[in-house]
Amino acid sequence: MGQPRTFRIGNISITPLLDGDLDASLDKVPDPTDRAAAAELIAAAGGDKALTMDCHAFLLHLPEGPVLIDAGTGVMMHERLGHLHARLAETGVRHEDIRSIFLTHAHKDHFGGLVDAQGRAMFPHAEIVMHEVEAQFWFDTKPEDMPERARASLHLNEKAFGPYRDRIRRVPEGGGMKGVAARLSPGHTPGHTAWVIETGEAPVVAWGDVVHVAALHLVRPETTMVYDLDPATATATRKAMLQWMADSGAIVAGAHLASPGIGHIQRSDDRYLFEPLPQDHQ
Ligand SMILES: [Zn+2]
Repeated sequence: MGQPRTFRIGNISITPLLDGDLDASLDKVPDPTDRAAAAELIAAAGGDKALTMDCHAFLLHLPEGPVLIDAGTGVMMHERLGHLHARLAETGVRHEDIRSIFLTHAHKDHFGGLVDAQGRAMFPHAEIVMHEVEAQFWFDTKPEDMPERARASLHLNEKAFGPYRDRIRRVPEGGGMKGVAARLSPGHTPGHTAWVIETGEAPVVAWGDVVHVAALHLVRPETTMVYDLDPATATATRKAMLQWMADSGAIVAGAHLASPGIGHIQRSDDRYLFEPLPQDHQ
């Protein structure tokens, strides 16, 4: 794994930080029709390796200082993940320099790196910025009113957010900070958020988990997987976001797109393609 590459886009720069990779499987596609179609798409894309997803966070270099979009898995998953801290160190940015961490949503592969194995904060000076809808769902909803899948992960949320309890900033739609704005993109979680980053040119849209497995979701966006708390809403969001990205020429920064995870979405006949920014992009 080479040193993280920084991409200059308009008047900002952004460094994808590869935390590692994780495997999906076809048994995560609950609907039999979807699963049969998914099996064909995966076979056509080269077999099981097409089900392996990269896992990225993104370091943004803003005039106000460095900020992160998501925080990797930390020690909450398996040994092929958790490399965000090493990648960050390679950029020369220190954990104590990070002033804000914008979360796309509150799942362990996005917040796990907030804390170490002992549950201590890895980012001593950072605020956590979340869409108010996402914060309300995870922090204000009674566990018995949550879907079982969400309830089952609450202990991890407590572990990750505990040391940050007094520095979680909830923002409304469009809020965030100068040049970084929350855009609700619900379904995967109720307050799943795309962060829209102004560049002076095409915006960068950090869309979190709008797409999990590219070989499935770019070709057949209606493929639902068990990860989405509200599958119908997640599908509608995915279709709308893909169309928006393809039509607008915005640059996507996708948590689970293939490394470097940043590039363009293009429409080709009946499907979408992810075209990564070239390594020599200036
Ligand atoms: Zn994810």
